[in-house]
Amino acid sequence: MTVTTGDSRWQRAVGRHTSVGSRAMPHPAALALRAAALDDEHAATDLRDRFLLPAGTVYLDGNSLGALPATVPEALATAVRDQWGGDLVSSWNAHGWWEAPTRVGDAVGRIVGAAAGQVVVGDSTTVRLHQALHAAVALRPDARVVVTDPGSFPTDRYVVDGVAAQVGWRVEHASPDHVPALLADLAGRGERVGAVVLSHVDYRTGRLWDLPSLTRAAHDAGALAVWDLCHSAGAVPVDLDVHRVDLAVGCTYKYLNGGPGSPAFGYVATRHQDGFVNVLPGWNGHADPFAMADGYEGAPGIARARIGTPPMLSLLALEAALQAFDGVDVRDVRRRSSSLTRFLRTCLEALVPDVDVVSPAEDARRGSQVAVRHPDAYGLVQALAGRGVVADFRTPDVVRLGVAAPYLTHRDMLAAAHALADVLAAGEHLDPAHARRNLVT
Ligand SMILES: *Cc1c(COP(=O)(O)O)cnc(C)c1O
Repeated sequence: MTVTTGDSRWQRAVGRHTSVGSRAMPHPAALALRAAALDDEHAATDLRDRFLLPAGTVYLDGNSLGALPATVPEALATAVRDQWGGDLVSSWNAHGWWEAPTRVGDAVGRIVGAAAGQVVVGDSTTVRLHQALHAAVALRPDARVVVTDPGSFPTDRYVVDGVAAQVGWRVEHASPDHVPALLADLAGRGERVGAVVLSHVDYRTGRLWDLPSLTRAAHDAGALAVWDLCHSAGAVPVDLDVHRVDLAVGCTYKYLNGGPGSPAFGYVATRHQDGFVNVLPGWNGHADPFAMADGYEGAPGIARARIGTPPMLSLLALEAALQAFDGVDVRDVRRRSSSLTRFLRTCLEALVPDVDVVSPAEDARRGSQVAVRHPDAYGLVQALAGRGVVADFRTPDVVRLGVAAPYLTHRDMLAAAHALADVLAAGEHLDPAHARRNLVT
């Protein structure tokens, strides 16, 4: 089956979520009162003081690069000045650098519902997904098919296509809501599916997929469930162990606030660790790394998913960043996030009724972002930035308003909707200066 990524598929993909409503709209003054009341109601989960954000900015790009946690600058300074600068190479032992990938992995595991010893941190999501898929191939030697969503984030599609080409698997595509039917169809034809690879949240529409039922569907077909958690880790409860997910990957610079280029994580359920074949065998994942043995023998447990020397400064920055989740239940983050995104939708419908909100109206189907479509989406994002509202643009016509609940308020949601209304009213998005796109959009 061929991949279609053109506009027509995109139109169909978002069409299902497009809202057309003509309900009575609240007055702006009523919205301001409502924002204040909701902020009071959710005061216990306002963690803004755990983050350093520039004054006057409404930061709605935490789904691309999370804000800076207040603990990070000092931790990074200590790692550089005292550890690297003072204790030098002894820091590998003295400061637990060597164990950091699995120690920080356990900290990520607590946020995504994985018991200790199943998560490793290092490398990028792209690398971790290559590794997970190759491991799936080894765990399902009789399979010949991998199922994935053609609307996935590009790197995920490239990885699935790339690995499938390397191992001789065929790629079958279906939107997650059609995956169970596709699996039944393939089973009916006697096809063995090795893995179902999906993203928990669609990076453009913010659609949250039903991880428990899709994982069950994969298992019923004899396949492994491989999840990309880039847009859910730190925002939505994932409960990897509870739902018996097999393999998962995710980045840490979005809702986990690990910083630019912070290392990704990989989850390998305990029951698969003995059979986990590391496609990138390296000395860090060796059973006895300092024996400098001639042959590769994978370490027991999750350590066998390690590859080479990790980016220690980024890893330590991430470890400090995760303290923003200390004592925090992701369920509370989710409750706050649902309230924020619901209210943002309400504000947008009231103040900018002409923009098309593509994120689902139903809380249970919406991740932690509200995406809107507009023909001048790029210009809108630029003009919003001029008003202190930072969002991002995704081709062809989407403005993503990412809502990292720990550091955002309902007042911020209202301010963003007002800014959007003001930009549109003044035509600021049509400024010719926005015709030329930056390298990074
Ligand atoms: C952000 C994101 C990535 C990023 O991959 P990198 O290798 O870290 O650049 C991959 N997949 C999804 C779904 C993402 O949202």
